[in-house]
Amino acid sequence: MQIYKGKSVFGGIAIGKISVYSKAEQQVKRLKIENVEKEVERYHEATATAIQQLQELYDKALREVGEANAAIFEIHQMMLEDDDYAESIENMIQMQKVNAEYAVAQTADNFARMFSSMDDDYMKERAADVKDISERLLTVLQGEESQGVESQEPSIIVADDLAPSETVQLDKDKVLSFVTVHGSLNSHSAILARTMGIPALVGTKLPVDDTVNGKLGIVDGTNGIIYVDPDEVTLGKMKELQKIELEKKKLLETLKGKENITLDGQKILLYANIGNTKDLATVLQNDAGGIGLFRSEFIYLEREDYPTEEEQFQIYKAVAETMAGKRVIIRTLDIGADKQCDYFKMEKEENPAMGCRAIRICLKRPEIFKTQLRALFRASVYGKIAIMYPMITSVKEIQRIKDIVTQVKAELEEQGVEYREPEQGIMVETPAAVMISDQLAKEVDFFSIGTNDLTQYTLAIDRQNTALDEFYDPHHPAVLRMISMVVNNAHKAGIWAGICGELGADRELTKEFLVMGVDELSVSPGNILPIRKIVRETNVKEYKEYRK
Ligand code: PEP
Ligand code: MG
Repeated sequence: MQIYKGKSVFGGIAIGKISVYSKAEQQVKRLKIENVEKEVERYHEATATAIQQLQELYDKALREVGEANAAIFEIHQMMLEDDDYAESIENMIQMQKVNAEYAVAQTADNFARMFSSMDDDYMKERAADVKDISERLLTVLQGEESQGVESQEPSIIVADDLAPSETVQLDKDKVLSFVTVHGSLNSHSAILARTMGIPALVGTKLPVDDTVNGKLGIVDGTNGIIYVDPDEVTLGKMKELQKIELEKKKLLETLKGKENITLDGQKILLYANIGNTKDLATVLQNDAGGIGLFRSEFIYLEREDYPTEEEQFQIYKAVAETMAGKRVIIRTLDIGADKQCDYFKMEKEENPAMGCRAIRICLKRPEIFKTQLRALFRASVYGKIAIMYPMITSVKEIQRIKDIVTQVKAELEEQGVEYREPEQGIMVETPAAVMISDQLAKEVDFFSIGTNDLTQYTLAIDRQNTALDEFYDPHHPAVLRMISMVVNNAHKAGIWAGICGELGADRELTKEFLVMGVDELSVSPGNILPIRKIVRETNVKEYKEYRK
């Protein structure tokens, strides 16, 4: 038995024959061409065919893994049409009187080398993309069928690396898992694998040759291990684990498309929390009814400077469009406390968790707030966006927000910029907001309870301080009573109330939340189906009687 460790892209266990995928080296010869015009024309035709193939791949990926992941094929189409790339090939054919294949291969090498030498990680990864599009062009020019990964029996694909176009062509029924020597966790292929939900590893230093080809393999995606030629004990153990996992998964799969409704007819919304547009595919895969918390501050945290209105608009628009009319709750930036952003140049504070964070920054520096609001109001034209304001403690803050919103709308109006007014709600995550939730409910469209901060401020325990774990009781009756109080006050005012803190995904409490009448739970995408299962198996009235 040989054991190799890699980085886990997606969990789960796969057992089966290993099939080594080695790309057939495209043999490109340098040929002298007489009719240069005809050769350029041949290159143009090949480009058109390749673009058509990429469109088909885009459509397939869009159906299977969502817009965010399909976008790579759009990028490839653009790269094929890129002026610099095309000019380099045409110029080579014309000046050197060489065949199109040679010009493409040569350009691919030059561009890949140029991208690899760049400092920026994102640009570095484009080297793989330029090779991918060039190989596609070569395949078309040489009149071959596009390769893809073809395995006759379901197998574990072991490869040096897999291009995004190869990964998306994986026939899910025939591929148990894939393991690559290269590739980063953030590469498009890894992202696609995650969304497809197959166990996968990258960065695994195993030989990609006959020493593993055809042998039995076990991929433990969760622990990042591949066993080649496993011994009987390991095989037995892993088979047992796989059986348990498969049973759980199968059961959950049957819940897709089903309503979140209890046995006695009570409904609840199950939404997803995201921090990034990259998370959208898993949101769709797990059948979320909407997005309950998009932590927009990650857009700020990922950058070295303030994101522009246009940058933000494009992101919010993409999320709204991908969710296709389902509610997308975007929280305005919640910088401060544990989420520090250097370019905000905040004063150093003794106690940042209780300092200038979230809405307080926005109200003190309205120019930052207005930029985000403009982007959100503009993006609302493209879907059902809702805005959520964090760290609210008073009605006065809401009035100040409303004044700024009025200014933003007037400015958009004046400039003739298209916008739509989204729903607007608040996070209830301070004890103050809980205690005046009856008054706050009259001012907004919805409440979402942030139990992470609400617990820290209620129990006076820093949520980051693991040394205080013995005092940190997430089920503390004070917090549970507060949730119940907020829900009651919301309902009295005719608005809905959900939970978007981690407690919302605590399955021990799902029944309690149903009893309280919580209208929505926003959880990480992987938690949606397990909670749906509990909801559908609960009879709220009976449970209430039973726990008396
Ligand atoms: C919360 O406080 O519960 C919450 C959802 O927000 P964050 O964890 O981002 O502070
Ligand atoms: Mg919070």
